[in-house]
Amino acid sequence: MHNTCPHCNTNLDAGDIYENFFNMFNDSIKALQFAKAYGWKETDKIHFSRSIIVQPDREPQYMICPDCKQKLPESKTCIPDTPQENKQHL
Ligand SMILES: [Zn+2]
Repeated sequence: MHNTCPHCNTNLDAGDIYENFFNMFNDSIKALQFAKAYGWKETDKIHFSRSIIVQPDREPQYMICPDCKQKLPESKTCIPDTPQENKQHL
C-alpha cells in the first residue's frame, strides 16, 4: 500500500493499525480489539495516516498534509490517527 502526498510526495502512511496497537500494548488480543474498533480486519488491513483532519465550522471536514499543509484527496484505505479532540478548527 502506498499513501503519499500528491503535493510534496511525503509518505503519509503511519503503518498498519493492528501493528501500531500491538507495539503500544504488546498484547495481541488487546491490539486486535482496538484495531477492529477502527474497522481493521485481517482481510482488510487498514493503515493509519499521518494526514491531519481539519473541521471547518459549517463545511465538511477534510484532510491536509502534515508537511506541506495542502488539502489531500479522500482516502478510503488510510484513516488519520488524530484524536477527535485534537481536530484543528479554522
Ligand atoms: Zn504534502
